[in-house]
Amino acid sequence: MANIWDIIIIGAGPAGMTAAIYGQRAGKKTLMLEANMYGGQIINTPEIENYPGIKKTSGAEFAQELYEQATGLGAEMIMEKAVSVEDDGDVKHVHTEQNVYDAKTVIIATGAKNRPLGLDREEQLIGAGISYCATCDGMFFRGKDVAVNGGGNTALGDALFLAQICSKVYIIHRRDQFRGDESDVEKLQKLDNVEFVLSSNVTKLIGDPKLEAIEVTSVKDGQTREIPVSALFVAIGQMPENKEFANVVPLDPKGYVDAGEDCLTGHAGIFTAGDCRTKTVRQLTTAAADGAVAALAASAEID
Ligand code: NAP
Repeated sequence: MANIWDIIIIGAGPAGMTAAIYGQRAGKKTLMLEANMYGGQIINTPEIENYPGIKKTSGAEFAQELYEQATGLGAEMIMEKAVSVEDDGDVKHVHTEQNVYDAKTVIIATGAKNRPLGLDREEQLIGAGISYCATCDGMFFRGKDVAVNGGGNTALGDALFLAQICSKVYIIHRRDQFRGDESDVEKLQKLDNVEFVLSSNVTKLIGDPKLEAIEVTSVKDGQTREIPVSALFVAIGQMPENKEFANVVPLDPKGYVDAGEDCLTGHAGIFTAGDCRTKTVRQLTTAAADGAVAALAASAEID
């Protein structure tokens, strides 16, 4: 008989790897399929200070610990991108770009990817001043003036990190109130090399072949301002990547898997967990909670 996993988890971010821990601890044979790097978006977070029981860690360190915990319990990981799920009754076939893996249950934990600004030449300037990851690329701009666009926890965390290594950091946000944690806003307000550019959007990328400045337009009066920067770190949120699985799970109008706190998708044997699911609070803690809920629900369905 072909190798049939008890649980295949699509995506090895915090939700997926937590599901693997709970699956293994429930005595189930668990496989994680990951397209890129395990850890998901959290590997781009310089500092985590809001995960209960851990006062401070880096995203990369957190992801590594989680990986070692899951695989240490016997979960396996294959670095392949899952591209579709086919339901054959008791067995689900998970197709990757290279292979097909069979499982009794599937947990979709695909997370979300960075949202681009949608500006002219944005893609072309990636690696030449446009970045979606301050932790990965910040060091290239040591001693330079840079900008961060966004008003959520990612943008605030990026700005705090960049303020330590760059000469000046502009934070551009479309509203005059931040969505991210007030404690981070207060830390930033105390820094001499940070300037808030609020109620403004980045409207133009200037410089060829590399970024030299950005044009910023006020949403209040339409006035534009050119700010010379060597880099723009785009941190304006995420988009889900669930289209491939729309044949087996319902998606909401934004493309998130339409499921509640029970992580049930309405499709027997297929569950979801983490940022890819419809939810209001997307945090490490809620991703971990989803991983546990989904894995226990999947385990309960397997004899
Ligand atoms: P987010 O919370 O969705 O914030 C996105 C920000 O980008 C918002 O301020 C939004 O503005 C702005 N924005 C969205 N579309 C835009 C556009 N087209 N042009 C200009 N601005 C735009 O995303 P995030 O900061 O990446 O965080 C995602 C989730 O991860 C959040 O739940 C966050 O709390 C969590 N997170 C947690 C940690 C941690 O636990 N340490 C670290 C990082 C992120 P508006 O405010 O006007 O909508």
